[in-house]
Amino acid sequence: MLDSLNKMFSGNEGDEPVNTTGKPDISREKSAELYEKAKTFFPGGVNSPVRAFKSVHGTPLFIAKGDGCHVWDADGNQFIDFCCSWGPLILGHNHPKVKEKVIEAMQNGMSFGAPTALENELAELLLKHNKFIKKLRFVSSGTEAVMSAIRLARGYTKRDKILKFEGCYHGHSDSLLVKAGSGLVTFGETSSAGVPKSFAKETVVVALNDREALEKAFEKFKGNIAAVIIEPVPANNGLLLQTKEYLQFLRDICTQNGTLLIFDEVISGFRVGFEGAAGYYDIQPDIITYGKIIGGGMPVGCYGASAEIMGSISPDGPVYQAGTLSGNPVAMAAGIAQLNELLRMGFYRDLNNKAEEFAESIQRFAAARNYKFKVFHIGSIFWFAFTDKETVSRADEIDPASMEKFKIMHRELLNRGVYLGPSGYEVGFVSSAHTKVDLEKAKRAIFDSLDLVFRK
Ligand SMILES: *Cc1c(COP(=O)(O)O)cnc(C)c1O
Repeated sequence: MLDSLNKMFSGNEGDEPVNTTGKPDISREKSAELYEKAKTFFPGGVNSPVRAFKSVHGTPLFIAKGDGCHVWDADGNQFIDFCCSWGPLILGHNHPKVKEKVIEAMQNGMSFGAPTALENELAELLLKHNKFIKKLRFVSSGTEAVMSAIRLARGYTKRDKILKFEGCYHGHSDSLLVKAGSGLVTFGETSSAGVPKSFAKETVVVALNDREALEKAFEKFKGNIAAVIIEPVPANNGLLLQTKEYLQFLRDICTQNGTLLIFDEVISGFRVGFEGAAGYYDIQPDIITYGKIIGGGMPVGCYGASAEIMGSISPDGPVYQAGTLSGNPVAMAAGIAQLNELLRMGFYRDLNNKAEEFAESIQRFAAARNYKFKVFHIGSIFWFAFTDKETVSRADEIDPASMEKFKIMHRELLNRGVYLGPSGYEVGFVSSAHTKVDLEKAKRAIFDSLDLVFRK
């Protein structure tokens, strides 16, 4: 998502496709036609910028349907899908249990603007198996969850400033479309037109995995920082894995300063395990945001905290937050069905083992051929990085020039029936619907593409 933000305007549209194989690309005629039409309706022909394929070759694929780990585009091409709607589809497309529950809910009407038992049911599932939060509020997207969590932190602490990290994405609310200025600790600069400079002044931005910068920020803004927000598994600008020690340091410095620690687990929640990154690293944040997986593919987000902190939310407390479609019964139903599947014994063990095997065998292939290529992974999230660094934990450790290699790989993978998100800054997801056979097939396509990328 960050890619779309940072690279959108540098744009590489119009670049001549590199004809790597000399073979024609798969047909995208119908997709191209739909795209032309879409451009008359939507800016850039899309309803979310990364979908426009600006960072890779060709016209965006218009998806006609999905089933299991596969998607089919408008031209009838079939792909093994590792985008999985950017993370929500941990069970793959069109899972029978999710579909059944959604249809059942729809038969009773689609929205009431009044409470339903389904909200209780999903909340209970979430809270009963999660020791890190005690109360929550449902909203309709990850952006909304984070925006509300920030307001809650400010209202609860009666402070204005927030601190975020370069390389973490938290949705597109004004306070968070802010990037680092120059210097170790500065106010942020807006990363989108339309965000007032005065808003950006309330957001401090520092580099990930840099203790000194964080200490300096707390010194400089002593007593003013309401919250520190982080993706504990930063997965929107590559996969910038942090150490448990660093996250613990973050926890401690927040506690010492009366600052709330917000884990934005919109991707990592229910992905690296049922208790997300908080459970994975065993670190107690003050507020957690979820989205993506908890909606089973429907638009849902939520934020949660202790009963005391959540007591600040309206109508119990003074922090206002509302939503016409919040807790939508159809979305709740999808979430309930999906989370029930995730709670089955061994679900994460099996999924994570499968994903690890996939990632590591690709890594072995690349290493054996001395390719400057790494597969970083955690749980069922992976990231293909054209680097020879052993670890990449900060945004500035990613070489933008390496994205040219991803661009070739992406095209060759499409030609071989494998769909990755259309940007080298995006991670991929393995779902429980990816069988060993699918993953073997995908691996062969990946090996071939790597050989072409590194062909001398
Ligand atoms: C996807 C994402 C968001 C934004 O969620 P939307 O549903 O796209 O608004 C926020 N934070 C993180 C960590 C995300 O991955």
